[in-house]
Amino acid sequence: MTPNSLLIIILTIIIVEFIVDTVVEYINLKHKSTQLPPQLQDIYEPEKYATSQAYQSEQTRFGFITGSLSFIVSIVLLVSGGFGALNSFLLQFTTHPIALALLFCAVLYFVNDIITLPFQWYSVFVIEEKYGFNKMDAKTFVADKLKGHGLAIVIGGVIISALLLTVSWLGTSFWVAAWAFLSVTIIFINMFYTSLIVPLFNKLTPLEDGSLKTAITTYCKKVDFSMDNLFVVDGSKRSAKANAYFSGLGAKKKVVLYDTLIKDHTEEELVAVLAHEVGHYKHKHIIQSMLIAVVQMGIMLFIFSLFAFNDNLSQALGADKSYLHLNLMAFGMLFSPISTFLGIFMSILSRKNEYQADNFAKNTYSATPLITALKKLSANNLSNLTPHPLYVFLNYSHPTLLQRIKNMEK
Ligand SMILES: [Zn+2]
Repeated sequence: MTPNSLLIIILTIIIVEFIVDTVVEYINLKHKSTQLPPQLQDIYEPEKYATSQAYQSEQTRFGFITGSLSFIVSIVLLVSGGFGALNSFLLQFTTHPIALALLFCAVLYFVNDIITLPFQWYSVFVIEEKYGFNKMDAKTFVADKLKGHGLAIVIGGVIISALLLTVSWLGTSFWVAAWAFLSVTIIFINMFYTSLIVPLFNKLTPLEDGSLKTAITTYCKKVDFSMDNLFVVDGSKRSAKANAYFSGLGAKKKVVLYDTLIKDHTEEELVAVLAHEVGHYKHKHIIQSMLIAVVQMGIMLFIFSLFAFNDNLSQALGADKSYLHLNLMAFGMLFSPISTFLGIFMSILSRKNEYQADNFAKNTYSATPLITALKKLSANNLSNLTPHPLYVFLNYSHPTLLQRIKNMEK
């Protein structure tokens, strides 16, 4: 295929994705109803329900503005050959392939961050602030940015360098070695996420002794689940929104409860939330998602290996000859529809897993406190209680609140 036809395919993909996203967001926004389903009547006072809808409208509008901006910038850069031009410009500083690739990615990463910075600021300090979610001050915002950049430089730098090194050593069969390396990296990050990355941003403290810990320990003994790593994280440092999650494997496994969750829920509700998380572990959902990520990575790298040395990909982005990082970038854009389908498949699987975890909590503990906890969470987070089914199908990693309640009441 000629560089020109590749460029046309890339542009078509970007345009179609933008239109589909915008239409689905619009349908979802229009789908909101002033009437709540009977099972959900007790969640919101009419006034708070109106607030939750205003919050969703504002977020959708804001998403449309940022999405349109990024769409326009992408189209302009592609049509004008901007990526190739940037690459030629950087060639005067280094011609070393790995250094050039790192420099190219760093420039794009930081330029993108600078352009989107006012929007990130607006989202936190105007929208989230207005609805009472934001607990972050300017200092935390800046510190988060700097730490995020540090992590991106280290992790991104290691991954890009490793990928390019394997290509220069092994040629077209690089994908096997790159796959092995990236798989180990995915598993490593999964295992040590809570021990290494979370403490950079938050304070984790072991749950203190008391009636909550006793209730949790009693439940864990009952379901034969060894629970030595139960932490509370200071989520309230940034947002009033609450959450709980599970990470790691084997002896490294950890359950993390947000302080905002503990504040607003009864002991029974907290044990029910924990029972749901234990359900994910007992059904091996964490290993499952890790394995899927590894398999997906292998498929993607294999397909990339078929295109990696195709000069036309770089030329489609405006370069004069082939550069591996430009090929990778063009490949990423061409691969994006496949990523979208894989993403939808992952969401379907994830929603199925959520039902399994809910059922586990129901069978080993009780459905009622989990239902009241989920209702409180939805209300506190001003969640959309009546999303459009198409929007749910495409984007939701969790079933809707109403679907989860119906499932548990069966
Ligand atoms: Zn879950």
